[in-house]
Amino acid sequence: MYYLDQVHQNKDPSVVYKTSSFRYPLSKHRNGRYQIQSGEKIHVCLNSDFFLKEADAWREEAWRIMKERSDVLFLLLTKRPERVRECLPPDWEDGYENVSLSVSCESQLRTDERMPILLSLPFQHKGVMCAPLIGEIDFRDYLSDGQIEQVTCGGENYDGKRPCNYDWVKKIAEACKKNNVTFTFVETGTVFIKDGRTYHLKDKNLQKEMAFKSGISFKGKEPVYRFLDRMGLEIPKSELYVPHFREHCKRCPNQAICNGCTDCGRCEK
Ligand code: SF4
Repeated sequence: MYYLDQVHQNKDPSVVYKTSSFRYPLSKHRNGRYQIQSGEKIHVCLNSDFFLKEADAWREEAWRIMKERSDVLFLLLTKRPERVRECLPPDWEDGYENVSLSVSCESQLRTDERMPILLSLPFQHKGVMCAPLIGEIDFRDYLSDGQIEQVTCGGENYDGKRPCNYDWVKKIAEACKKNNVTFTFVETGTVFIKDGRTYHLKDKNLQKEMAFKSGISFKGKEPVYRFLDRMGLEIPKSELYVPHFREHCKRCPNQAICNGCTDCGRCEK
């Protein structure tokens, strides 16, 4: 994230700010319909962390937006699960049904720090992001009680690019399979070790292709999301957004976590 902000956007990545699209989930077309349709996914603060202390002043408004858009899935990812409980809104109870929390687990150390906290938090949906994966991880019994719905895994890129060993990926995949948890291997990272050989894969599309070809990703138990309209009534599945995928998406390992193709052409570059 630091590398991308600096190189591609010429931004200082250490500055935390409220983006101009903060209220985008509430924006509407002229006909009064929301721009983001019921059943769509929003990755919140994908290049930052929703639970940063510097963002405390804005979080209450963000929770209000998520509550108002109870028909949209909000995906939160954090490296700071120890801050989550104190940051929840007063009406949270067992968690809003349209909010999912994932923690980053890039090594055994971080896994053992963060997974017990994640499992103790009141969220209806939970996941794990092992990216960048920089060491072997034994998930012990963190996946066994059925709380974790999805584990996503990928190697490191850009600055630093520490190696990712395929044996580590396989070990996590096996733990997921044993517990019927969906596992997605999204990319190899720049330095990838397989069967004792080290590969240098600078091209991200090649990394994705290699991850896809490994065939290691699989679907476990399907999470059940209940999307509610403004009256609190469940929206039937037939009225929810159906993601649109193109030919090239069929071989993309990200499909499991993607909101669908917007035909912008960026994935094909
Ligand atoms: S739009 Fe298609 S190619 Fe791009 S990330 Fe999503 S599934 Fe992959």
